[in-house]
Amino acid sequence: MKYEQLKKLVLEHGKHYDIDVIEKAYRLAEKMHEGQFRKTGEAYVEHPVAVAAIVIELGLDTTSVAAALLHDVVEDTDITLEEIEKEFGKETAHLVDGVTKLGKIALLTQEEEQAENLRKMLLAMSQDIRVMLIKLCDRLHNMRTYEGWKPQKQRDKALEVMEVYAPIAHRLGISNIKDELQDISLRILDPVGYEEVYNIIQRAGNAQKIVDGIVEEVRGKLVEFGLLDVTVMGRVKSVYGVYRKLYMQGRELSDIYDIHAVRIILNNVAECYNALMLMHDLYRPIPSRFKDYISTPKANMYQSLHTSVIGKKGIPFEIQIRTWDMHHTAEYGVAAHWKYKTGVQGQDNMEDKLTWVRQILESQQDSDDASEILSDIKNELIPDDVFVFTPKGDVINLPYGATVIDFAYAIHSAVGNRMTGAKVNGRIVSIDYKVNTGEIIEVITGAKDKGPSRDWLNIVATSEAKSKIRSWFKKERKEENIVEGKELFDKELRRNLINLADDEYSNFVENLAKRQRLNNAEEMFAALGYGGLQLSKVIFKAKEDYAKMQKDTKPSEAKIKTAPIRKTTSSNGVIVEGIDNCLVKFSKCCNPLPGDPIVGFITRGFGVSIHKKTCVHAREELRDAENAGRWVNAYWADNIKEDFKATLDIVALETPTMVGDVSMMFTSSRVPVYALNARQMADHRIEMSVTIGVTNTEHLTSVINKLTKNKNIISVIRG
Ligand code: MN
Repeated sequence: MKYEQLKKLVLEHGKHYDIDVIEKAYRLAEKMHEGQFRKTGEAYVEHPVAVAAIVIELGLDTTSVAAALLHDVVEDTDITLEEIEKEFGKETAHLVDGVTKLGKIALLTQEEEQAENLRKMLLAMSQDIRVMLIKLCDRLHNMRTYEGWKPQKQRDKALEVMEVYAPIAHRLGISNIKDELQDISLRILDPVGYEEVYNIIQRAGNAQKIVDGIVEEVRGKLVEFGLLDVTVMGRVKSVYGVYRKLYMQGRELSDIYDIHAVRIILNNVAECYNALMLMHDLYRPIPSRFKDYISTPKANMYQSLHTSVIGKKGIPFEIQIRTWDMHHTAEYGVAAHWKYKTGVQGQDNMEDKLTWVRQILESQQDSDDASEILSDIKNELIPDDVFVFTPKGDVINLPYGATVIDFAYAIHSAVGNRMTGAKVNGRIVSIDYKVNTGEIIEVITGAKDKGPSRDWLNIVATSEAKSKIRSWFKKERKEENIVEGKELFDKELRRNLINLADDEYSNFVENLAKRQRLNNAEEMFAALGYGGLQLSKVIFKAKEDYAKMQKDTKPSEAKIKTAPIRKTTSSNGVIVEGIDNCLVKFSKCCNPLPGDPIVGFITRGFGVSIHKKTCVHAREELRDAENAGRWVNAYWADNIKEDFKATLDIVALETPTMVGDVSMMFTSSRVPVYALNARQMADHRIEMSVTIGVTNTEHLTSVINKLTKNKNIISVIRG
């Protein structure tokens, strides 16, 4: 970039810059870099000029622009810091020194050194954040012109960006610089993947044209409502952002709702919530995609309302709603402090943004362990991706948390299937070792037919590795899969109280397999065995089938005959719930007679004493808490004509009223309940065990039939 362009930019920018100081800095840089050229052929001084332009775009002050122009002179020429201080003052000299020192910090080194170096970087940032901002501008311009570097240097720089600079830009909230740094680095590290995603985004339908259409629609709605002073703009997600979701998080393209987005910028928070309401009125919102970062800002101070909706043409997109202040913070992060100094942005806000830097530095003072410090810093910087090398030097890009197994499968499924171990930087590691950026990984392979271990499915982090492991089991271990799958299936049947007679079993599973669009039961068991079919899905269908079977079968024929009915005894014509053959006495206070509603009280020493429900000693509201557990239900044996007790095991879907519904059903049929236990089970089911009184088997059958008419009841079995 030529100086004239920079000068024009300064003057056009509308902010007060001291053009004399900037010009003086340029003259010095021009003189000192004279005769130096970049690999791309242009005069070296064009680099600091371009960096200064990005610094202006970011909105930093005159001192920062001067420092940007001079950032390489101390390093590359004979001039000293003292001379710069004499000409431009202490502040400028300090910034130049800081940027020079930051540049010297090697980032892709051994762990201990890397920790120490990152610490130096953070220290420099905490002293004057402008040092880091200028360094980010410097790195951005270098990345924009990466073609001048040799391939190895391109990759080294791109790795540094992914590992350190982009996370720092993210933490400082400077989204523009972060996005561009990541996109360029991705293009270097995975050119094929970059190209693929770039095309997907373009295909996602003339991205810009779609966004433009939505912008007009949105603006119309807001203006119609009276929000006249509104700015609506569209954006298309960065290549790296989509790449991450597709390849690192294994999401489907159709699950990514924010490839297109519109931003609505308003004057105050109240207008933001109004706009949100209008948008949900205009478009169909996608459930669970709404996020309120206004009331709960992100760690880097980002604030906005986010919602995803389905557009008129069926294309999903994201809507971000925010005020201008929030917008400035979102775009320029910590730099908004200089760019919009006059607004609400102030020192306080900036202090907040830098607390994390100080916190890391402070927490480190208590720690001597370099690797601990490193992991602290890395956690803080939220590295999303890991870039590792094959022994030949190829870069493999994996999500954070990926293991050496993921690495092996990322190379080729044949490598993964034959893997017996791995070496990291020449050292043997355990099979669940999580890889870190910069490591060289060598997969140790064994005999061809070894194959993966089933445990690996719980270790790997990528869906790619998972599906490759599964497909190995599918192909290579059919017999084992069938046995394993059948075992899992049978166990789950028992757990769900699905009892099938031997002659029912084979029909039942064959039908079930057909419902899964599989040819036969063997195929279904095999699929369950290698994990290609979800057990819970199959069991859900099995329960449906079983419930249907239960309804079709006449319980009186199938179940009841085999179960002997136990006679319940009563004493003095009274049945006490849950207690057989107990001593009963009638209390003197209320003298209950047959026909009166009664209740029992378990006394200490003389069985159960029977009261009228209306007795002052028995009324529910008058019972003392200490003895509450000793009151039991009691009935007149003659009155309800009960002769038999039967226990039913009921499995039902868990609805809020299920237990109440069941007991209501007994009450309304005048069937006494002697005991009822209910417990929650997995999959939103409840299991109830109910002891009821029935006159005979026909009566019991009719009760069971009545129960099974309730569509939420899955099965009723006589215990
Ligand atoms: Mn530079």
